[in-house]
Amino acid sequence: MEKFDQNKEISLQQLLISIKLALLFFSVIAFSQHYFKNKEILDLLSNGSKTIFIFVLIIIVIYGVVFFSNKVDPDKQLGLFKYGELAFFVVLSFLTVFYTGAFASNFKPLFLCVILLATIGHGLTIGMVIAGILSLGLLSMDLIMVPNQTVNLYFEYDLVLSSIFLLVTFTVGYYAKLENDHIEELRDLANEDALTGLFNHRYFYANLYQEIDEAKKNGVSVSLFFLDIDDFKIYNDLYGHTVGDRALKKMAKIIMDFAGTEFVACRYGGEEFAILLYNTEEKQAMESANKLCSIIEQAVFDGQEYLPGQNLTVSVGVSEYPNKAKDANDLVSQADQALYRAKFFRKNRVESYASILDNLKNSLSEEDETIITTLRTLISVINSRDKHTYEHVERVAEYASWMAEELNLPKHLKQTLVYGAYMHDIGKINTPKEVLLKSEKLTEEEWKELQQHPIQGVEIIEHVDVIKDVQPLILQHHEYYNGKGYPYGLAGNQIAYTSRILSVVDAFDAMTSLRPYQRKRSVEEACEELIRCRGTQFDPNVVDVFIGIVIKKFNIELNVINSGLSDSNG
Ligand code: GH3
Ligand code: MG
Ligand code: MG
Repeated sequence: MEKFDQNKEISLQQLLISIKLALLFFSVIAFSQHYFKNKEILDLLSNGSKTIFIFVLIIIVIYGVVFFSNKVDPDKQLGLFKYGELAFFVVLSFLTVFYTGAFASNFKPLFLCVILLATIGHGLTIGMVIAGILSLGLLSMDLIMVPNQTVNLYFEYDLVLSSIFLLVTFTVGYYAKLENDHIEELRDLANEDALTGLFNHRYFYANLYQEIDEAKKNGVSVSLFFLDIDDFKIYNDLYGHTVGDRALKKMAKIIMDFAGTEFVACRYGGEEFAILLYNTEEKQAMESANKLCSIIEQAVFDGQEYLPGQNLTVSVGVSEYPNKAKDANDLVSQADQALYRAKFFRKNRVESYASILDNLKNSLSEEDETIITTLRTLISVINSRDKHTYEHVERVAEYASWMAEELNLPKHLKQTLVYGAYMHDIGKINTPKEVLLKSEKLTEEEWKELQQHPIQGVEIIEHVDVIKDVQPLILQHHEYYNGKGYPYGLAGNQIAYTSRILSVVDAFDAMTSLRPYQRKRSVEEACEELIRCRGTQFDPNVVDVFIGIVIKKFNIELNVINSGLSDSNG
């Protein structure tokens, strides 16, 4: 239940409590009058403390009952309890009227309380039914019990009273219904994206937290898709925003049809969409995402043939709670990282969130698991401070593991390389944020400070014995093959082999991701740069192996790279 619903529910319950209290209070007075043979209430009260005590006691008991009944969450109240309580009040008011003179009772207006209770608490229809039952009861009493008279005045008065009951019920019930419809309309508007008709960003988060809570209670999974249209900026530039909007609407329609009533589809922002799949594990979610991706691939959008891929497509990032993400925010962050991977490797594809660390964990001994826990703690420190560094580190670890596979490194070297990739920037924890995020050229002093990060990194982990093998990686990942790097100016084989690998994959990611101080380069451009610095900054053999991997993984133009390689070879 959303917060404003809760607030409304609380106020409503308070109103109903007041009505119930009033009803009980009048009934007690009425019964007391009857019990004490119609003596004046004030006389009774002045008659002695015993009577007052009984009165107070009854009121306390009544209040306790009402208070307790309202403690029960209305969503969880059983139908039996809800209607049972209403039936109790109908019978109580009827008995009250019956015992205080039946047709001649002065307590007939008490029925109004019951009618209000029914109409406000249960809606117009139930309100009308209760008003009907009470009116019928009243009129029957007049017909049956009034002594034979030529004109039954009680019946005539009660006919008027019954009409008032029905009128009040209808007015209150109808007004409440109008209000509710209006609130529903406003709620839809507040949750809906105006352009596409999908749920909006606000609703996405409200629903995400709710679904995660429910999944936790029921022990089921929630998967999340993040979709981003490929090259949509180019599409807009080609045809203008009106045509762009039309494509967005069409895309939204496909996504809406796909989600149906089972899943929740939202426009997360701009040309990004999110789909929440309750009770869906990752494997199934990946199948669905691939299906959706190919539906979109096959759909025809006006003018798509002039886009780079001659088609308007989407890339999708997928993650799942609780097997991958540990909470709602983690789920969003992981799906986002998966989307980044999908875009980065090649668009028009689905990627699920994968952490190298998690993958490694599956093949580890108990001792190794301690390492992972240590690493995880250190990484979460980096992550909490600087999201970009963390994501960079994840990708560098992935590239490092590609290299380890390709070179067939022994298991312990592979692990050292991947752990080192995770740890290599740990020393940046000590570098001031202003320096890390500065977009202008660093001053000499700042540059010197930044150059300390390999040494500071080693200082941070030097007492953690289980990861002592990664120290050279951290220390040497900015050394150059020609000896012109930092912090010590080591050259060639003086630099550990794993550090030479790390240096290449680190540079590749730095070039191909967005940094405050430089523009993002394409994969091809980054490869050209690696080739340019082959033999100076980087170990030439490592560059060759890595470029071979990049060509395969990114499916990029071979000629540019190959000619670059042969140039620098020659
Ligand atoms: P990529 O494949 O990397 O996603 O490339 P892209 O061009 O799609 O890049 P990006 O996601 O950064 O571009 C978002 C573009 O979406 C920018 C903007 O022109 C367009 N866009 C965002 N919201 C709207 C909208 O409401 N209507 C229209 N017509 N275009 C929008
Ligand atoms: Mg985008
Ligand atoms: Mg896009």
